This record gives sequence, C-alpha cells and structure tokens, in this order.
Amino acid sequence: MDQTYKLSVWAAPRAVERSILTLSDQVYVRPQPLGVVLIIGAWNYPWALTLGPLVGAIAAGNAAVVKPSELSECSSLLLRALLPRYLDKDLYPVVTGGVSETQELLRQRWDHVFYTGSSSVGRLVMEAAAAHLTPVTLELGGKSPCYIHSDCNIRVVARRITWGKFVNCGQTCIAPDYVLCEPSVQNQLIDCIRLTLLEFYGADPKSSPDYGRIINQRHFNRILSLMEGYVPVIGGQSDASQRYIAPTVLRDVPPQSRLMQEEIFGPVLPLVAVSDIDDAIRFINEREKPLALYVFCTDQKGIEKMLEETTSGGVLVNDVLMHYTLSSLPFGGVGTLHSFTAEADELT
Ligand code: NAD
Repeated sequence: MDQTYKLSVWAAPRAVERSILTLSDQVYVRPQPLGVVLIIGAWNYPWALTLGPLVGAIAAGNAAVVKPSELSECSSLLLRALLPRYLDKDLYPVVTGGVSETQELLRQRWDHVFYTGSSSVGRLVMEAAAAHLTPVTLELGGKSPCYIHSDCNIRVVARRITWGKFVNCGQTCIAPDYVLCEPSVQNQLIDCIRLTLLEFYGADPKSSPDYGRIINQRHFNRILSLMEGYVPVIGGQSDASQRYIAPTVLRDVPPQSRLMQEEIFGPVLPLVAVSDIDDAIRFINEREKPLALYVFCTDQKGIEKMLEETTSGGVLVNDVLMHYTLSSLPFGGVGTLHSFTAEADELT
C-alpha cells in the first residue's frame, strides 16, 4: 500500500460503535500527536534503534529529540551530522553525549519517552519519567532460551542457532541466550555448530571479515568473567587488544550458575541439559519471562504444549530472530520486560 495513503488512514478519525443512548450522535476516535518525544537508543544496532522509533514518532505527527548511545560513538556522530541534512533540525534534533547528557534530558518534561537498553537503566528512565507522569516505552533485554526437541534435524537447527547467536558477536537483544535439550542431543548439536562455524567464519573466526568484536572493554571483561570456570567445547579464545572473543559453546552448564542468571549479550552459548519438554517448560517458567522463545520441534503437539504453557514477548517455531523483520507483528517483552510496539499508533 502507498505509504502516504497509510498515513492518511492512520491519522483519520475512526468511527466507533454507538450505544442506544448515542444512536443519533457522531462517535469517533480522532488521533492526535502526543507532542515531543524523547528517543534514547542503545549501541548494539545504533541505526535501527533510533531511526525505527523516529519513523513512528514522525508518522504520528510528533517532534522528537534523538539521543543515540555514546558507546557506538562513530554512528552517533554520523547520525548527528546526517539527520539535519534530511529532516528539520529544530523538530528532530540529535543530542550526543554520555550518561550525564541523557540524565539531563531525562530531567526535562516530555510527552513520551522511548528507551531501548538494559533493564537497570530502564528503571532509571521510568523513575525520571514518573516525576512528570510521562508515559514510557521500554525496550529492554533479557534471556531468550532455545528449546530443541530430539525429533529435529539438528544440522538445520544448528545452522539457525549459530547464525542468530553469533551475528553481531551475540550482541543482539533477541539472540538465542542458551539452549535447553536432552543430553543425547548435545553431542550432535556441538558437532553441527562446529561445522557451521567453520562454514560461516572459517578456521580462524578472528580473521573473518564477517565476525564482529565486543563493543568495549567493560563488556569484554564482563563476558570473560561469565565464562570463568568452564572448559569450552568450542572456542573460548580471546584477545583483549581487539576485544575479540571466539564463538564459544559451553556444555552441561548448571542452571544456578551466574551465566544463567543474567543476559549474556556476547558470543557464548551455554547448553543446559533437560530430561524432556516438561523439564524445559519448568526451567523456562522458573525464570523471568523471555523476551523471545525459540522452539525447535516437528511434533505439533509438542509445539502447542510449549505455546500453551509458557509466556514470552515473542515465540518462533523452528527459527530465530526472524519475527523482528515483520512489521506486521508486535515486538517487545512481557512482565519485567514489558514494552510496546513502536508503531505510529502508539505515539498518537
Ligand atoms: P547503552 O549503554 O548504550 O545505554 C542505552 C542508553 O542509556 C544510552 O543512550 C545511554 O546514554 C543511556 N544511559 C546509560 N546509562 C545511563 C544512566 N545511568 N542514566 C541515564 N541514561 C543512561 O546500552 P545498554 O544498556 O548496554 O544496551 C544493551 C541492552 O539493550 C541489552 O540488555 C539489550 O538486550 C537491550 N536491547 C533491547 C532491545 C529491544 O528491542 N528490546 C534492542 C536492543 C538492545
């Protein structure tokens, strides 16, 4: 559909059902812009996480201030240089800078705040917005489990999980965080991931032009400390001078370990043994609701069971990440990861 046409449809008044008391009245919802929106982005996809919400804000008729992440500094400076060339700089200014600049922005009164980033900063954003009773959209991070049923073609599963986990060096909010499968599946999975890594990144991922690096030293140290005490079955090598961490797989990771408490956000994939699908469901339900849940299973009953008995922001069956590519689907989390879609509708 023509985009201009969509805008005029979204912006048009929408007639609603009348009651017997209002039969002779005109009753409708008339969308209006909220006003001025603050958009705070994260570093892991510095363009998508600022321009995506900005498109929604503009489509809904709002002015917006864009605050890209200081951690992806070059992208943030480029955004500041480019945006005024294409958009009105008074209506859509870009503010660069670090935490103190973001804090200063958060002290101001906005009509909506759209934040993407970690849950800990999400709390600060919500607290600051509460002072003005400003509505917020929080796109936060969390652990996204994969469950692999033993009936799957493990070669295909391994290719999909390897892609989703190691693209952008694991620094993707909906990257598969860990894998739940029966012990009998683990060996085959490890072999297939090893083969896929060879195919994707060659014998030395460090020299592959397709393999990334960790954003900064703090995150590099954080990820290495999560791996401490394990003997990787794949990878494990690192080089601080380049902030390089090899694609790494760890097996039989204990459920109580630190690795299983916080979002990994790096190229480390723990495999956790479960006895069957019920055990996997129990494991998932004992934790915060996942941002995304990936179910690999060919049996329809098994798939239905997983869908019925778990709650998450999004579920993909037999694939990973792809739901993000469909703008017709909502995107976000539930529970502590609550968030809403960035559609124009929301910002009106
Ligand atoms: P980050 O460090 O870049 O922080 C995000 C923003 O918060 C930045 O603009 C920064 O200036 C601001 N900020 C940082 N500390 C602050 C403070 N003390 N007070 C006020 N503002 C502050 O990014 P991050 O938090 O490391 O982002 C990674 C997280 O984002 C991961 O958890 C990831 O899962 C999540 N994420 C979620 C989505 C989603 O759509 N749900 C998408 C991408 C990333």
